[in-house]
Amino acid sequence: MTRIDDLLARGRTTSFELFPPGTDEGEKILWRAIDELEPLSPSFVSVTYGAGGSTRDRTHRLVADLLRRTTLTPMAHLTSVNHTRDELATILERYRDAGVTNVMCLRGDPPKDDPDAFWELEHATDLVQLAREVGDGAFAVGVAAHPEGHPLAPDLATDRDHLARKLELADFGVTQFFFRASDYRDMVADLAARGCTTPVLPGIMPITNVRQIVRFAELSGAEVPAELVARLREVEDDPAAVRRLGVEVATDLCRELLDAGAPGLHFYTLNRSSATREIHANLGLTAV
Ligand SMILES: Cc1cc2nc3c(=O)[nH]c(=O)nc-3n(C[C@H](O)[C@H](O)[C@H](O)COP(=O)(O)OP(=O)(O)OC[C@H]3O[C@@H](n4cnc5c(N)ncnc54)[C@H](O)[C@@H]3O)c2cc1C
Repeated sequence: MTRIDDLLARGRTTSFELFPPGTDEGEKILWRAIDELEPLSPSFVSVTYGAGGSTRDRTHRLVADLLRRTTLTPMAHLTSVNHTRDELATILERYRDAGVTNVMCLRGDPPKDDPDAFWELEHATDLVQLAREVGDGAFAVGVAAHPEGHPLAPDLATDRDHLARKLELADFGVTQFFFRASDYRDMVADLAARGCTTPVLPGIMPITNVRQIVRFAELSGAEVPAELVARLREVEDDPAAVRRLGVEVATDLCRELLDAGAPGLHFYTLNRSSATREIHANLGLTAV
């Protein structure tokens, strides 16, 4: 199966993030989005990993379904929170044996209302190392990057040091969403100053709903710039106008990022295709 590191060596990628739904209705919505996104020939699609419990098997199932039912190249996310090292090794072995060649190694956050959350592998780098051991060359390994800094880091410089070390062990990074191209450019410059040139794909979240984006931003530590909030507030009672503005803002951000030399674009679709398809069309994207 196609490896994302090979794709990035060939040229610019376009990719879409999906999440495994928990209901039959969610499943229908997801597959409608997949059917509408597949004709855009993305370089790969990534599948997130749930915070805990039974939702976790769904990632494996969706990745397997994508392999079986579509022409898409999937990447499986995996988080180390609430898993022992042995459990994580078993999950990675299952992916390896199923022919999955792309994994995203994450630390994960403690699930809501779980005071007993634990990590046997404390940092994402530990999971990257485990994926290297289990995969024995079979996996292209991605990691997360936070252009505005990870919310738990004591300061930005320390976070950049950890990020540079993590990216050195991985094959590529994908960022949290953000709204200022300068945050991405600054991150890439900080990494280069630390000798790290591993490709990092910017993550783009098209805004389709004002309240939702403000909540996501609070959770992730990303800032919605005041000027953008003001533009959104002006149209917030008109859902169609919010969507139009969201598509316009994301299109402009993507243009700036491509001009800045981004190695590709990764879209957070939230299992809906229309905003992503519009931005894709505005940019006239073709991908390796
Ligand atoms: C692209 C992307 C995809 C994601 N997908 C998912 C998903 O599918 N499921 C999910 O539950 N969550 C997902 N997340 C959220 C992610 O799990 C959280 O952001 C989590 O808080 C951090 O994960 P990480 O892998 O970046 O952690 P790490 O790289 O381990 O970093 C976490 C914190 O530890 C610090 N740190 C790192 N290494 C060290 C060290 N050696 N010593 C001391 N401190 C260190 C870092 O500076 C940072 O503050 C995703 C995030 C992104 C950006």
